[in-house]
Amino acid sequence: ESVINRIAAGEIINRPSNALKELIENSLDAGSTSISIGIKDGGMKLLQIQDNGHGIRTEDMHIICERFTTSKLQSYEDLSTIQTYGFRGEALASISHVAHLSITTKQADSDCAYKANYIDGKLVPSRPGGGSSPEPCAGNNGTVITAEDLFYNIPSRKTALKNTRDEYIRIFEVASRYAVHNSGVAFTCRKVGTPKADLNTQKGATTITNIRQIFGAKIASSLVEVQRSDKHLEYEFKGYVSSATHEMHKSIFLLFINHRLVDNTPIKRAVESLYTSILPKASRPFAYLDLRIKPQNVDVNVHPTKREVRFLNEDSIVGAIVDCIHTKLLDQNT
Ligand code: ADP
Ligand code: MG
Repeated sequence: ESVINRIAAGEIINRPSNALKELIENSLDAGSTSISIGIKDGGMKLLQIQDNGHGIRTEDMHIICERFTTSKLQSYEDLSTIQTYGFRGEALASISHVAHLSITTKQADSDCAYKANYIDGKLVPSRPGGGSSPEPCAGNNGTVITAEDLFYNIPSRKTALKNTRDEYIRIFEVASRYAVHNSGVAFTCRKVGTPKADLNTQKGATTITNIRQIFGAKIASSLVEVQRSDKHLEYEFKGYVSSATHEMHKSIFLLFINHRLVDNTPIKRAVESLYTSILPKASRPFAYLDLRIKPQNVDVNVHPTKREVRFLNEDSIVGAIVDCIHTKLLDQNT
């Protein structure tokens, strides 16, 4: 049974950046305004995330890493209307099957923090002979989640991910995209032991400020705002795209659907071909798109590791987004 769980978990959590994405979403769900990420060896040795959110109730700490344990789903009907990121209750469980996981958490009305270690979904004693319940300790309000030795029990996966520099780049990409999308939250991301954070956004900074900090002044100063909605097609989108004033050689997409970082190949292809067709020298797009779709219309049943999502009225909505960007770019150049 444990091997089956491990294989399943290794498919949900397939690399460090993917674990980080789940952990960031949990921190955001907990109402955090500050999220700090610490990394060793591209997240393979250590992946740590500290937030100042509402924390976890001590009595819930036993079950938090069991599969399908979620505080975010009250009834079956919620499945279609759920607004938060997570609803599957599988992320922490999966991480505990492929890494050494520890959680320290403190709710604001608690006198102290509690810490627990988990292996294969179960809370385990932190030292030989210790009890299997969370241990009181010092800590700030919020939650610190530490995953160590990722894939220690899946040697083939560990070998496949030995380029830690590459894994760190992916981690930075995920963290910085969430930082752009959540300008109300201060994000930091650093390699443990290095004095300077690679990502360091301020709470309440504007979206443009965050884009400038992460992607550079050239891109930031070329951005134009786009926005459109349609009651009939049941979508709403806004965002920023690069204009003709800045030639890009590589496209950069930050696509959020209902606040989840996703991929949607049709949108990407359509926006890219718009840029090649109307801008000089085959310029490529920078596009940060914040798309909201009625939750019922998003296909949430795709495999959890797949960033790719599908949604209802996809052709029409993609067409409308491209049309909106097209109009805006033409305005810019006349
Ligand atoms: P899901 O997010 O789908 O509910 P997870 O496995 O990601 O499932 O998390 C399980 C539960 O653990 C969440 O429902 C939430 O109650 C709790 N949790 C996880 N991370 C945090 C956090 N950073 N702050 C507060 N609660 C958390
Ligand atoms: Mg979650």
